[in-house]
Amino acid sequence: MEYNIDIAVIGGGPAGISAAINTHLRGKSVTIFTNSYKSSPLYKAKKVENYPGLPDISGAKLLDGMYDHLKSMKITAIKAQVLSIADMGEGFYISAGSEFQSAKAVILATGVVQTSFYPGESELLGHGISYCATCDGMLYKGKRVALIGLTGDALEEANQLHDIGCDVTFISPSIKPDKLKPGIKVLKGSKFEFKGEKKLKALIIDGVEHEFDGVFITRASVAPDLLLPGLDIKDGFIQVDKKMQTNIAGVFAAGDCTGKPNQILKATGQGQIAAFSATAYIDEREQA
Ligand SMILES: Cc1cc2nc3c(=O)[nH]c(=O)nc-3n(C[C@H](O)[C@H](O)[C@H](O)COP(=O)(O)OP(=O)(O)OC[C@H]3O[C@@H](n4cnc5c(N)ncnc54)[C@H](O)[C@@H]3O)c2cc1C
Repeated sequence: MEYNIDIAVIGGGPAGISAAINTHLRGKSVTIFTNSYKSSPLYKAKKVENYPGLPDISGAKLLDGMYDHLKSMKITAIKAQVLSIADMGEGFYISAGSEFQSAKAVILATGVVQTSFYPGESELLGHGISYCATCDGMLYKGKRVALIGLTGDALEEANQLHDIGCDVTFISPSIKPDKLKPGIKVLKGSKFEFKGEKKLKALIIDGVEHEFDGVFITRASVAPDLLLPGLDIKDGFIQVDKKMQTNIAGVFAAGDCTGKPNQILKATGQGQIAAFSATAYIDEREQA
């Protein structure tokens, strides 16, 4: 079977970027699938003091530099949330937003995963609740949608839904609603609950019920075992050996998703090891 990419990297924080650069340097084709880079926790770091050679740099600036590095190497970066990865035995199918791609090996670099959901969220996911404005926004054109902003790209996502023609209400426990397009409504709230059976009926915000046709949540990540069933997870972290190999052949992991310490240098170092191991995995299979 033909796979269109050698290595798919999931997640565009320091670990994923390092994995993609090192894969590219080893002569393999690589595509990085990621949410907006603003969803990396590093984007929030006002000052990073432990990155050798770059003292006193902001996290956002460091990430900018990493993305420029990717661009200078012409590495393909697809801005989309990966919703599932199917293990086909000899390779993998990746479903990212509206894209389907296939790869011989996968490197997971998804960062720390939010595992607690709002009441009713997991039951209504795909039935009125979505994590992806780009993929599902058109379904709600002309309809009332709420956007619960939990990541740095929330304002952009709300503006995008507004541009599509949705009637948007923005709610966030942590993000200031200061760059929203005129016409977007804002509600305050920090406790959310979803009502509906098989289809979303209402969003309950701090105990008050509001009717919406759809609710978008900007979550940074999908739990790894939902992303790729069968993955060995302990205490929420993907289990890896020294080569960053998971329990599934052809799947490697790097960075915060593998456990503490949650640090940039550990993430980039593991990204490099995962790239080398994934490259060796493909070479060994092709020579066999
Ligand atoms: C305020 C703050 C300050 C910090 N300061 C420092 C510091 O000074 N020094 C230091 O070493 N570390 C610091 N850190 C920690 C550092 O930011 C992390 O260790 C580092 O970002 C981890 O990199 P990562 O690539 O593993 O994951 P992340 O940076 O979390 O990147 C993962 C990326 O993958 C994306 N993603 C996840 N799932 C999917 C999916 N299914 N589909 C598509 N994309 C997906 C996420 O949205 C995210 O963009 C700080 C963290 C915070 C919050």
